[in-house]
Amino acid sequence: MARLLTFRRGGVHPPEKKSLSRGEPISRCPDPETLIIPFAHHLGAPAKPLVSPGDEVKPGDKIGESAGFISAHVHTPMGGKVKEIRSVYLPAGFASPAAVIEADPGSSWSGTDMGEDACASMDPKEMISRVQEAGIVGMGGAAFPAHVKFMIPKGKQAEYLIINGVECEPYLNADNRLMIERTDDVLSGAMYIQKMIGAREVIIGIESNKPESLQAMTQAVSSRRLPLTVRSLKVRYPQGDEKQLIEALLKREVPSGGLPIDIGAVVSNVGTALAVYEALRMGKPLMERVLTISGEAASDPKNVLVKVGTPISHVIEHAGGFSSPPDKVVIGGPMMGFSIYDLSTPVMKGTSGILALTKHQVNQASRTPCISCGRCVQACPMGLNPTKLYKLIDHGNYDEAKQRFLLDCKECGCCSYICVAKIPLVQGMRWGKLMLRKKQS
Ligand code: SF4
Ligand code: SF4
Repeated sequence: MARLLTFRRGGVHPPEKKSLSRGEPISRCPDPETLIIPFAHHLGAPAKPLVSPGDEVKPGDKIGESAGFISAHVHTPMGGKVKEIRSVYLPAGFASPAAVIEADPGSSWSGTDMGEDACASMDPKEMISRVQEAGIVGMGGAAFPAHVKFMIPKGKQAEYLIINGVECEPYLNADNRLMIERTDDVLSGAMYIQKMIGAREVIIGIESNKPESLQAMTQAVSSRRLPLTVRSLKVRYPQGDEKQLIEALLKREVPSGGLPIDIGAVVSNVGTALAVYEALRMGKPLMERVLTISGEAASDPKNVLVKVGTPISHVIEHAGGFSSPPDKVVIGGPMMGFSIYDLSTPVMKGTSGILALTKHQVNQASRTPCISCGRCVQACPMGLNPTKLYKLIDHGNYDEAKQRFLLDCKECGCCSYICVAKIPLVQGMRWGKLMLRKKQS
């Protein structure tokens, strides 16, 4: 058996907890009565609202216009009446204006498949423009506007397109189910991205704990004779991060402060590949996504297709509510996700999971002094010294933390996870980065 690929340095292997929802086929979450659609789903500038209270909207209407180079349009998945534009708190802890829409029951977007020939006749520029029009962002969590990533800067070349099917966060199975249930569409989306960026090689990376996905993708690639390679990876967190994935597959390292394209690579999530397929073949804007609802306090863990703007409480209700009072509700995975306290928080384009965790899953041990064991240093995939950085940040010495590559921290949480003293190291890194941003502004 071939040796499984992985990245070189650091990383952890938390309990996978995938079995709670692994075998659950994707079901559709019923439509909510009210949508709350933020204008800041993505990295970069929030979209500019195009609607006002009282406006009538139809499913698929653009309600927010991209407001800068790094920005993305926002569409409504249902028709209805705009009740108000108000500020909402997003899972990452910042506020965004949002359109509150009283939805018309049963009003969903529908489109026609233009067929493969129509797509084949498009040139890369037109394809990128359609991706931009559809408001597609990276669906693995970072939500970077996809059309910006697909516009290769002058002087750079995309040698490799890597399709990220790693989904290394515990509990999550949304990408896994997409690769099993929408195999051909994900692969077609990957081929469209390859054409847009001009990559000479396409590699799909999937961790070995997803045997059904590996089998489905390998079989489909073979039967369609597609020029793609499917590679199995060792189970190790944070392999789904693009820098670690590139290292695992290409044995190339993205330089400090650099981007994957600097070493000839573009990484796209399987959910993004599917969104690209739907945009190009059907003209469908990104207005819904598959996410996993799971955790030991979730009554009925499952994988659901949910309209963007649906309140989290509505999705939880669809999954049978809580089996016991959760200690925490986390949006995303347990390693990089954010706890929320307001269940009316909406599902966003980048929402990969909703986890209801009991007190047994939530780390409740008290913090003790650092014992200089060095485990956080060993676990850091970026080769940083988390304990040293934390102390610098704790003393307000942000500039020295920056000199020690604080900005390379990807907030993966490996250091906090492994720390025997339960020091909130990743929270410290986030704070230090926030302080540096404030100093710059
Ligand atoms: S959160 Fe940052 S410092 Fe901690 S392990 Fe991850 S990259 Fe390293
Ligand atoms: S893992 Fe925790 S206790 Fe050990 S050196 Fe790092 S911060 Fe200190």
